[in-house]
Amino acid sequence: MIRILPEEVIRLIAAGEVVERPASIVKELLENSLDAASTHITLEVLASGKELIRISDNGMGIPAQEVAQALSRHATSKIQSALDLENLSTFGFRGEALPSIAQVSKMTLSTRTKRESAGSELDIEAGRILSQKECGRTVGTTVEVKELFFNTPARLKFLKSDGAERQHLMRAFEEAALAHPNVWFEIKNQETKRGQSYPARQKSVERIRDLWGETFTEQNLIPLEFHHPYLKISGWVSQPQFHQTTKANQIFLINKRPIFSRSLTHALYEAYRDCLPVGRHPVGLIYLEVDPAQVDFNAHPAKREVRFRNESQIHEALIQEIRSKRAQLSNAPRVFSQERVKERMSFTLEPNTERLLGSQRLNEVVHKESSSLNPLSLQTSAKVLAQFQALYILAEQEGSLLIVDQHAAAERILYEKFREVLAESQEVPTQPLLIPYYWNVTLPQVELVQNQLETFKKLGFEVDLFGEKTFRVMEIPALIPEGELEAILAEILSSLENG
Ligand code: ADP
Ligand code: MG
Repeated sequence: MIRILPEEVIRLIAAGEVVERPASIVKELLENSLDAASTHITLEVLASGKELIRISDNGMGIPAQEVAQALSRHATSKIQSALDLENLSTFGFRGEALPSIAQVSKMTLSTRTKRESAGSELDIEAGRILSQKECGRTVGTTVEVKELFFNTPARLKFLKSDGAERQHLMRAFEEAALAHPNVWFEIKNQETKRGQSYPARQKSVERIRDLWGETFTEQNLIPLEFHHPYLKISGWVSQPQFHQTTKANQIFLINKRPIFSRSLTHALYEAYRDCLPVGRHPVGLIYLEVDPAQVDFNAHPAKREVRFRNESQIHEALIQEIRSKRAQLSNAPRVFSQERVKERMSFTLEPNTERLLGSQRLNEVVHKESSSLNPLSLQTSAKVLAQFQALYILAEQEGSLLIVDQHAAAERILYEKFREVLAESQEVPTQPLLIPYYWNVTLPQVELVQNQLETFKKLGFEVDLFGEKTFRVMEIPALIPEGELEAILAEILSSLENG
């Protein structure tokens, strides 16, 4: 028998499409605050966001007589007709976020416009408005979401660990903060009572540094600036040498919306194909602006995936833009005299070799990693031709041209040594650091590391959280040379990120 589903069930199904996890709520509520022209937005989270997410803004607010309406499905102030869908200038338009979130949580919404002398406050539970009353508050809106999925236990079970959920949530915050450097963002952890403030910035590169750390400076990044009647590309990508161990620093925004796009990611890697060592990743904060009529954000309820016309042209334009800016701004390939390169090679390869392994072992290791390449025999019997951007050594040996990837070789040696020690004994010999190493990571990575502190301990690292995005490393495995510490931590992080 075919039946029309009860309204309650329809609403739960719809809510499921919008609210997948705590991060979806953060994304939607931040978008609402941004649509309301807020200049200061605060996000407060308890644990993973399952228990509490509160977003407060200083935007235009909702008038008392309309606020109940904002909680019904397909109620929006942002579009009026189907024609408007072709020309969206706001993040929201479906009128689904507030009702969907309210449907699967206990929500308190308080808001005030500048025309009103008092605000209004609503209590909502599982989509039902329990009360609406006047309240005193500043102009703006605060939405508090508690006990997510309390009425849909099955959905609750599908959530990942607190750490993983928090990581998603932080990513949503990070994306919004990078998309809008001119807005002042704050984040507060209700558990630790710690917080971080990101003041409004003129240039996106300043916001990048605030979020991603001190090394993300204009010296290490290349600005993009491409103008075409239908497409504008701006943002920052890495100098060829400034590649990273993880993909964490890649964000694509189309008309300020964070999106996932295979095609654009491919373009970014393609633009660095000639200079990216194996297992390393480029940095890219890439803003694309296209005529709203050229993109369809209505393809996915969370608006995460977009369809855009001219996808292949945009792909091509991005590659060309990165390549041409790279050619203008990055160091051109350098060719050194043979003496000079030998000098460098001994610096990058020999000390590791001597200290860590017998030459026999190095031969094996490098052999495995880079097929026929062998830095040691290279040093003795090959004729070194050039070094490219401190990444590759070019040499001639017995009539063949050799390309040695310096990073990969050095990292591999350490990795092998590590495995050997772990396999042989349970206890990793450690060395305390005289001066602690302060390890800066991105916000989503903080959660990842915190969840794996035990693993780090097992590997011989004594690590604790020191600031919002900084870990203090006090003890490290004895076999790691201090100079390699940063690269190794990043390497571990990368393997954790890849599960
Ligand atoms: P949409 O954003 O698609 O319009 P939502 O369900 O997210 O739908 O929000 C419904 C309406 O509530 C919005 O159109 C807007 O008028 C109002 N609203 C929601 N959040 C805010 C906010 N933070 N400040 C001002 N108005 C808001
Ligand atoms: Mg919205």
